[in-house]
Amino acid sequence: MDKLVKLTVLSEEYKNCTKCKLCPTRTNVVFGIGNPNSRILVLAEAPGKDEDEEGVPLIGASGRILDWILAKESGLPELELLSASFTTKKNFFWPDHRKAKQLLMQFIFYTNTVLCRPPDNRDPERDELKACRDRLLQTILTVDPTVIIATGAIANKVILGKVSVNILRSRGTIQDIEIDGGRIPISYPVVSILHPAYLMRNINLQKKDGAWKTTYRDIALTYDILRMHDKIRDGA
Ligand code: URA
Repeated sequence: MDKLVKLTVLSEEYKNCTKCKLCPTRTNVVFGIGNPNSRILVLAEAPGKDEDEEGVPLIGASGRILDWILAKESGLPELELLSASFTTKKNFFWPDHRKAKQLLMQFIFYTNTVLCRPPDNRDPERDELKACRDRLLQTILTVDPTVIIATGAIANKVILGKVSVNILRSRGTIQDIEIDGGRIPISYPVVSILHPAYLMRNINLQKKDGAWKTTYRDIALTYDILRMHDKIRDGA
């Protein structure tokens, strides 16, 4: 089955989901978004207020921060140009965010560990993560990206199958995961990065080895993996 068809079927399946206690309080189920053939899959934590209202992942301040770094480090002139209007003022106002996101979505698929907003933006709980895990694995297997970026401790814990993660220590690492693909396990490299909400609280963009600079490097690493992958594929 075509990837777009598979994702549409999966999103239909979760459209009226009642599998966990987040369901009664959500406005929208925030299914993933992006090109179904994306080479990068971004896994974030959970929808916030903006995402819950619009039904689209990572469109609020966290999304603007993450997308700005993804755009800035992409090496694509059009995205680098759009990244120029980003500001740390007025809740990280970035007038060109929507335009940049349209371009980023050509090669990035975005989703969260859970599809529904936890009340008061609390962390998603164990039973909620468990209820949404099969949907997440199905999404990854369908998109079948070259690399996964996991943002923040919760996304890393979920995707790496760990009880807890110290993201300040593990950010910048690449760990391979295996997902049961039916006949064979499928392996994906996971790049661990800080959550953009952490960057919001640690706002010095230029601080050497500060949160922002290390995240620029971690995202650049993701693009390096793609380039390395291309070289191997092309036998260069
Ligand atoms: N919005 C999302 O969709 N995910 C996050 O983790 C934060 C904000």
